[in-house]
Amino acid sequence: MAERPSTIVLVTCTSCGKPIPPGTEATKFLCPNCGEILIRRCLRCRKFGRPYKCPKCGFIGP
Ligand SMILES: [Zn+2]
Ligand SMILES: [Zn+2]
Repeated sequence: MAERPSTIVLVTCTSCGKPIPPGTEATKFLCPNCGEILIRRCLRCRKFGRPYKCPKCGFIGP
């Protein structure tokens, strides 16, 4: 039996909730309001300026 590493973290876009494949030109930054949650946005959401919502403090922003 082959062992698989269990360290694969599925990164999802905070705006659309879709998984971001590794190597994709996505951006990540800390929530500007609480500074505790790492917001991730995929290329499409950046392009279309979709809003994101912080799951911790509920901050909504572009
Ligand atoms: Zn997205
Ligand atoms: Zn926040």
